[in-house]
Amino acid sequence: MDFLFGLKLDYLSQMNEIDLKAYVRDVPYFPKQGIIFKDLSPLLASAKARKAAVERLAKNYQHVNVDVVVGIEARGFLFGTLLAEALGASFVMCRKQGKLPGDLRAVTYDLEYGTDTVEMQIDAFSSGSSVLLHDDVLATGGTAAAAIELIESMGGNLIGVNFILELDFLKGRTKLAGRNLYSLINY
Ligand code: AMP
Repeated sequence: MDFLFGLKLDYLSQMNEIDLKAYVRDVPYFPKQGIIFKDLSPLLASAKARKAAVERLAKNYQHVNVDVVVGIEARGFLFGTLLAEALGASFVMCRKQGKLPGDLRAVTYDLEYGTDTVEMQIDAFSSGSSVLLHDDVLATGGTAAAAIELIESMGGNLIGVNFILELDFLKGRTKLAGRNLYSLINY
């Protein structure tokens, strides 16, 4: 009887499973020609979908110790803090150059044209902390790879990297090879 009841609950929860892709809006030619911007505003706007997204992210780490969630500026702060809350972890900002005060550590990485720099405060977490990295979108992987370099240079023990959305065709995964990588939505 219990077994059947369990199956029924599983079936019902599958029926209720939210299709998170339905909460992502494609905005062509933003911010420039040739880019289809993945706008997560509808996902943030829906309390139900937002909750489901955080639960699905957090579920992956229910059996591991996470001391710190690092979110990458700026949209990585949104679900990053919610994920940290769900995991009972600390939250740390990884920001673009010039935005954070205090003593900082920085990593500069190559873009298609030019370079960019990410920074974190040197006292953001203690060496040996278990760190989870989060960002909204995995595109080429350059930003996440730089953030990982930064985290590890500060003595962080990177236990995983996750994204709301991954653009498979840009092969960002290859830059993060060997990392425990998870994306909620793949395109
Ligand atoms: P990348 O370093 O190429 O993996 O770029 C990742 C960063 O760029 C993320 O922080 C995203 O916020 C942003 N990004 C890149 N491509 C897109 C896109 N098509 N839609 C939305 N955000 C994007």
